[in-house]
Amino acid sequence: MVCLVIKSGGAAALPEWKALFARLMPSLAVRDWNDPAVDPAHVDYALVWKPEPGRLAKMVNLKAILSAAVGVDHITCDPDWPKTVPLIRMGGELPAQQMEDYVLWAVFSILRDAPLWRTGQEEKVWTRQTGAARTSADMKVGVMGLGSLGAPVATRLVRAGFQVSGWARHARTLEGVTCYAGTKGLNRFLQGCDTLVCLLPETPETKGIVTYDVLAQLRKPAGLINVGRGPLVVEADLLRALNDKTLHTAVLDVFEQEPLPASSPLWAHPRVLITPHVAAEASRASRAEYVAQVIRALEQGQDVPLRYDPARGY
Ligand code: NDP
Repeated sequence: MVCLVIKSGGAAALPEWKALFARLMPSLAVRDWNDPAVDPAHVDYALVWKPEPGRLAKMVNLKAILSAAVGVDHITCDPDWPKTVPLIRMGGELPAQQMEDYVLWAVFSILRDAPLWRTGQEEKVWTRQTGAARTSADMKVGVMGLGSLGAPVATRLVRAGFQVSGWARHARTLEGVTCYAGTKGLNRFLQGCDTLVCLLPETPETKGIVTYDVLAQLRKPAGLINVGRGPLVVEADLLRALNDKTLHTAVLDVFEQEPLPASSPLWAHPRVLITPHVAAEASRASRAEYVAQVIRALEQGQDVPLRYDPARGY
């Protein structure tokens, strides 16, 4: 019997996982990550979120590691994770749709200056924007990272009427999106946008990529949306840019430290909207469906998409 251990949602979530897989793949033995009766050598697949370092290495016959999230940095930060075992990122349509919805909300919040209204409401002050109101057609949005999430986000922004550009490692063609590639294309990309959406994976190359100098290249009023990973943005530089008005607004879903500590000055910053890492969170049902598809394909010797490439780092 093929055995899947799960570390996602805690032991309380196991009955739901079991019920889902009983319907999707009745032949699968679904076990809790911490079940003492499970022999690590008999585990075929592990569906995990933040596994304790060293635990995956003990599962010596693993056929694949399935990340419970789209990113895999919560697994690859374990120096002992078994690097010869295929590591598969979470997929399915739901994460992309949710990310599109979130980024659209964030971009419109920047466009219509939602932080100003929030402050007005908190202070019970009838705050009206003055000056020329921008419309979506006036706003130039740049999407950093054009992968399984960034590409549909860029396309959705085009459909919503924004001027959209994108940046990735390799050249891409996306209808309606002006695409730039590599370090050579970065400055031209940045100078052509006023709102920057960060949707890169966290890798040694991308960590700390959004610095004060990067933010200073954006057209004014400049906005930042970080939905990739917290460490992509240098938080001290972000605060400096917000405080000296280089950056007008930031919408942040991910942080260097999560949960964001109560002591962080970002919480109370009047130009910042904070959400608790919720931009794209697929339901258990959709994740189970995707995992069942992946296991079925791997058991039949087929390759699967969204496979982490250790050489690229994403
Ligand atoms: P993909 O791996 O599909 O795409 C990554 C993109 O980033 C690619 O376009 C790639 O370029 C580009 N890229 C990677 N490294 C570089 C680099 N050094 N320079 C330029 N471009 C680079 O990732 P996804 O779109 O699926 O996800 C992106 C990230 O979103 C995840 O890694 C995760 O951290 C985050 N995420 C956040 C969530 C949230 O709730 N906030 C939920 C889900 C994911 P190329 O196309 O040329 O290879």
